[in-house]
Amino acid sequence: MSRTKIVAGNWKLNGNKALVSAFNNAFTVAKLDNVSVMIFPPALYVNEFDCEQLIIGVQNVSEQQSGAFTGELSTLMLNDIDISHTLIGHSERRDLYHENNDIIAAKVVTALAANITPILCIGESLDIRTAGKVNEFIQAQLDSVIDAVGMTGLSKCILAYEPIWAIGTGVTATPAQAQEVHAFIRDYLGSIDASVAQSLSILYGGSVNAKTAPDLFAQPDIDGGLVGGASLKEEEFLTICQAANQRG
Ligand code: PEP
Repeated sequence: MSRTKIVAGNWKLNGNKALVSAFNNAFTVAKLDNVSVMIFPPALYVNEFDCEQLIIGVQNVSEQQSGAFTGELSTLMLNDIDISHTLIGHSERRDLYHENNDIIAAKVVTALAANITPILCIGESLDIRTAGKVNEFIQAQLDSVIDAVGMTGLSKCILAYEPIWAIGTGVTATPAQAQEVHAFIRDYLGSIDASVAQSLSILYGGSVNAKTAPDLFAQPDIDGGLVGGASLKEEEFLTICQAANQRG
């Protein structure tokens, strides 16, 4: 079945107005009919983009609606300025800001209630991989969200499989390694609801670059990428988007 191809750039705590401008210019003239391109800049910059081909989202959202939560962004605010997508559960949020599976699930509930599409990030550490526990770890991450929103809720998300050992390290999972986990995810979800499993876009993330993208995107269960470092260079990011576009 053909699923929506997506390439999403996560700028993390990087970027400035000049970079936004470079992306506006590069993507206004790019022809990318078969891929959805998303950028997740620092929230201050979301309204600086003016390129229709780019879907702009935020890197994090609160599970709270409003109140005394210094530094947070709410879904009410995202709705207010027409932001339709958010990352949820990035490994840096899980590790550095102690967001556990319960908090991630609560964020997904809040986002879906506001018609915001989450890119739900999951993925194992090197220790989990070395211990041979990848599948059960990923399954637990998925189960906590499925328990909260059901398969109907999950069907409104985009998944991103991001092995932590490959994020920002320059070590990309091989296409075979990535495909193996993507296939596991799809099989596991298929054991609960085959049609949701078949239609869900599952992105790969972890040191994707212009060289590795074509082989990764050629895998049957990889529907695009979530890109960190290489999303800070407009030409390279465009090349990655073109690789996904060819598969769309
Ligand atoms: C990410 O931050 O989601 C990511 C995949 O980063 P990088 O591409 O730099 O590994």
